[in-house]
Amino acid sequence: MEENKEILPDVRNIKSQESYTLPSKGLVYKPEDNIPASITLRRMTTKEEKMRLRSDGEEKIRRDILQACIQDNIDANVLKLEDANFLLFRLRALSLLDDTYKVRVICPNCNTQFIHQLNLSEVPIKYMEEDKLNGFKIELPISKAKIDFKLPSIGDIIIMGDRIRDYLERYPNADRSEMLYTLSSMLYIDKVNGQEMLSEVLENYLDELDILDNRAIKDIISNLDGLYGFEENLQCECPNCKEVVTHGLPITSELFNPSK
Ligand SMILES: [Zn+2]
Repeated sequence: MEENKEILPDVRNIKSQESYTLPSKGLVYKPEDNIPASITLRRMTTKEEKMRLRSDGEEKIRRDILQACIQDNIDANVLKLEDANFLLFRLRALSLLDDTYKVRVICPNCNTQFIHQLNLSEVPIKYMEEDKLNGFKIELPISKAKIDFKLPSIGDIIIMGDRIRDYLERYPNADRSEMLYTLSSMLYIDKVNGQEMLSEVLENYLDELDILDNRAIKDIISNLDGLYGFEENLQCECPNCKEVVTHGLPITSELFNPSK
């Protein structure tokens, strides 16, 4: 596969742009989302380097950088989070010609902090499969309501982040985890009994649900989270106690500012 080929730091080999198959293969989008199975990125320029300095939310900056470098006529807001994160890592390797990525790990066995350096092109990618789309619909056990699920897009995350910030400004003493509990479910709910709901209506609906219906929703959401994207259980050995430690692929300042 072309996209797995390592990009060597040799000016003769530099590609100005490259196409990547999305981990979702485009299967999780609605026709009106207009997201194809593969997306073409171009190398970053000074303009995108300057965007990184904006005093804006991290998610918004990453969306804007992606939007600028995507060569297809699509709205980056619509990209599901896992696809957006995948493209950001590919954009980094394409632009900085650096395939290595440092992840800070804490060993759960002996509490030693260490850096695991991995090669991004070697991180396994799980691709979405069509039959897994069946997991996007359930009937709730108590109310018998039919719920259609969706995966959050980068635009959904940005809107929700703004909403949380506004709320905490108005109610600085609000309990953060209690507030996030319902909001995080809302990111995944597309329709209730075939109807889309305004977010305030949906929030009330979820808050009034029977506890067993609520748990059924949370179970589905945890299954949807790992359907596709980068492998989340990456392994390394603790340098101190030699235990095998697993970690995910977090987006940190290492993405566009790799430490030497
Ligand atoms: Zn250890």
